[in-house]
Amino acid sequence: MILPGKTIGMLGGGQLGRMTAQAARSLGYNFVVFEPSPNCPASQVADQQITADYTDIDALLSLGKASDVISYEFENVSTDALDKLAEVVPLYPNTKALHICQNREREKAFLKENDFPHAPFEIVNDPESLSKALKTIGAPCVLKTASFGYDGKGQQKIDSLDADVNAIWKAFDGKRAVLEGWIEFDIEVSVMVSVGSNGESKIFPVSENIHTNHILDLSIVPARIDKEIRSRAESLACEVAQKLGIIGLLGVELFVLKNGEIVINELAPRPHNSGHYTLDGCATNQFEQFVRAICGLPLGSTELIEPIVMVNILGDSWENGDPNFAAILEHPKAKLHLYGKSGPQKGRKMGHFTVSGKTVEEAFEGARYLKNAL
Ligand code: AMP
Repeated sequence: MILPGKTIGMLGGGQLGRMTAQAARSLGYNFVVFEPSPNCPASQVADQQITADYTDIDALLSLGKASDVISYEFENVSTDALDKLAEVVPLYPNTKALHICQNREREKAFLKENDFPHAPFEIVNDPESLSKALKTIGAPCVLKTASFGYDGKGQQKIDSLDADVNAIWKAFDGKRAVLEGWIEFDIEVSVMVSVGSNGESKIFPVSENIHTNHILDLSIVPARIDKEIRSRAESLACEVAQKLGIIGLLGVELFVLKNGEIVINELAPRPHNSGHYTLDGCATNQFEQFVRAICGLPLGSTELIEPIVMVNILGDSWENGDPNFAAILEHPKAKLHLYGKSGPQKGRKMGHFTVSGKTVEEAFEGARYLKNAL
């Protein structure tokens, strides 16, 4: 057990790091954040920031020296560098899990090798292989960069078998990619699994997720799916976490088809945007659970207190001046969370709010009203 009073080191200083730091400090831990941009959201609430590039081995080792345990909220870090760090300080989740989840090609291969349900895919590395894969996968389909893609960045939907593969590939800049069959899903859901160092695992309530322009817009909890699908989604997420040897958190994004079939879309070995509702909706939130798991503390209850809806606040809300935060603050069942970011650009996640209710419908109605008011 790494007890309160010790120091947690975190790679990545965005909002996930910030909310983890807040949870860690509430439990009495010290928190050091490693992030190249100064004054990042996490550093505003951390004890210390190491401002250096993720490729700076000496700086990474100095994070190791300053910390009793290390984790990450950001996946695009070289696992070779992290392996070096893991030699001097405990690092969770393990770097092998990160290596798989940080790259779509490896992630898909992992799902396939382990017989986890996934969309059909082919690996593509030039216009010829794209043309061949398009014939195999069929249209519609979606081309996704193998690495460094998030929130729909580095993705291109292809609607026809006659698409101009040369033009599409050129726009991809020669990057290695995965061509994935388009899934006509009924609903998107995600499951957050937490696993402690003694192997104990606890699942957070399944969240139903609505995306707009590839970015998470709303999470509705509990997801409006039947019991049998819920329990299959939960078991699947647990099996994946076990296969990856996770200690910490794993977010599993899933597509639910009309016939009840479930397909895994993506894995994230860290706190996840679709788990933000837990801050106000669960007995223990995902960030506190993350801290408990990596520090070897007993895991907390993941029980849902009341139905709840989470709405992301993007930079777009600043288009006509400051958003109407008063509407959220005045609502008796709403909570506002802002991440301390300056520069509200379009599509940038600036914060979120939650609205709870006696029923999902009531929470959803409140969220819709406040989203408009914002
Ligand atoms: P991703 O970055 O892969 O999570 O994709 C972002 C969003 O695009 C997903 O949450 C879905 O709404 C949509 N999407 C991605 N891949 C597919 C697919 N194969 N079929 C249908 N929709 C998809």
